[in-house]
Amino acid sequence: MDCRIVTIPGDGIGPEIVREACKVLDKTAQVYGHSFQYTEVLMGGCSIDAHGVPLTEEALETARQSDAVLLGAVGGNVGNSRWYDVAPGLRPEAGLLAIRKGLNLFANIRPAYLYQDLAEACPLKKEIIGDGFDMVIMRELTGGLYFGERHTEEVDGVLQATDTLTYNENEIRRIAVKAFDIARKRRKFVISVDKANVLDSSRLWRKVVEEVAKDYPDVRLEHMLVDNCAMQLVMNPGQFDVVLTENMFGDILSDEASMITGSIGMLSSASLNEGKFGMYEPSHGSAPDIAGRDIANPIATILSAAMMLRYSFDLDKEAEAIEKAVRKVLAEGWRTSDIMAEGCKKVGTAQMGDLIAAQI
Ligand code: NAD
Repeated sequence: MDCRIVTIPGDGIGPEIVREACKVLDKTAQVYGHSFQYTEVLMGGCSIDAHGVPLTEEALETARQSDAVLLGAVGGNVGNSRWYDVAPGLRPEAGLLAIRKGLNLFANIRPAYLYQDLAEACPLKKEIIGDGFDMVIMRELTGGLYFGERHTEEVDGVLQATDTLTYNENEIRRIAVKAFDIARKRRKFVISVDKANVLDSSRLWRKVVEEVAKDYPDVRLEHMLVDNCAMQLVMNPGQFDVVLTENMFGDILSDEASMITGSIGMLSSASLNEGKFGMYEPSHGSAPDIAGRDIANPIATILSAAMMLRYSFDLDKEAEAIEKAVRKVLAEGWRTSDIMAEGCKKVGTAQMGDLIAAQI
């Protein structure tokens, strides 16, 4: 298969971790007989330095013409960087919002997977962890409360603020379809999370999700109220496969789900459009505090590349090969400093990439 991938290394540790992900992709291409062609574009602080804006129209257009985007991270040290003495729309992170909007990426997927070899980092008790957990949070990214009409006014001398939560059935249907499609590539179980006992938007959400479920008789569907879901994630995380939810609930639940894995350098993510196109990136930021020292953990970005193979290119076998390589390297005791534990062997960013590539 020939794939055109736009890479956006970005700032801080971004270039170091994207380099390692490409190393692993190249090895995968070589072993499985594919061709991955990369075009690098600037976004974030490096684009501000070069062009005065965090994302140029040309960079966006190049991304649009590609099959998928692999992103490192953008942003600098918020306290003392020249990139932040400007209007919010000109800061590095504005590039992220612009590219998500420009590429119509409305579905965000964040896996939360517990590696047995990193179980010590999980803050939950052993009896709760059981055999571990392996879920994805599918969050609607471009609607709901964060995009609704809002205002603050004074009513009879008292300040009053209003935010509105709106979803139409089309917005719900397209994210539900994504969730069911992804469940088919996993354990075929969707839990749709809402607050249907209170909110009209949640009642519509539930109705549309049930309609979509009829097209997927092989996928089991259950509904769960968001407050219960927040509890269940820390009481019985092993029960979840695909968690489908709206923007704000997903914002909160995906952070909760990430935290129970215990290691930020391991968490991948994807944002998808209506078709196969997606942008793949680690869940962490640009970590300016450790940039350029060959100590960043590249695994979140490498696993994001695996998600790209699975969701944008339907190369499931190849994605599984990368995930297996990561498990193998961890099982052999290799660790970057953020996940270092007693008795393990410490390696840098580039060596971790080499070790994983060698396992493909
Ligand atoms: P961060 O995720 O960059 O760092 C938080 C802590 O985790 C730091 O101590 C860092 O060293 C560590 N860390 C993060 N990734 C790591 C890795 N792969 N390996 C080892 N350690 C790692 O969050 P922050 O410090 O709040 O933000 C730094 C910059 O990143 C800011 O400018 C912020 O706006 C930006 N940011 C960008 C994105 C993105 O590009 N998607 C996301 C979040 C934050």
